[in-house]
Amino acid sequence: MAVERTFSIIKPDATARNLTGAINAMIEQGGLRIVAQKRLCISLPQARKFYAVHKERPFFNDLVDFMVSGPVVVQVLEGDNAIAKYRELMGATDPAKAAPGTIRKAHAKSIQENSVHGSDAPETAVKEIAQFFSDNEIVG
Ligand code: GDP
Repeated sequence: MAVERTFSIIKPDATARNLTGAINAMIEQGGLRIVAQKRLCISLPQARKFYAVHKERPFFNDLVDFMVSGPVVVQVLEGDNAIAKYRELMGATDPAKAAPGTIRKAHAKSIQENSVHGSDAPETAVKEIAQFFSDNEIVG
């Protein structure tokens, strides 16, 4: 199995409830290593760029407003099959449909305020990581 990197965001609903440590524990217990991490406030242009793929969706403006509503923790996670592994650990987008034991089942508030983001493919992971980290900030 290939060692991969994926991009993660602990979203504002989770930082507001002081859940960074609880989510990081689930990430580490799930077999992923946090090889870069910083807490910051995403700017409006950054959020619009990050979610540009969803710009025609009815929830786009609400999603962008939510992502700039408070601090986030951006992360790079590393491990075997990290992209798929983290998607599985996050659970379904809608917490009502998320499997037991997943981050979203445990912590998400709604389909929008769903606590975490994870890249969906290798090309997206590379782009998303580069949007927030330089190479020397990632230490495996
Ligand atoms: P993900 O890959 O599981 O994060 O899901 P998507 O890429 O489909 O959507 C990106 C983000 O948009 C989700 O994580 C949610 O925060 C938000 N989102 C997705 N679907 C909906 C929806 O139907 N309504 C609202 N308000 N937000 C949504």
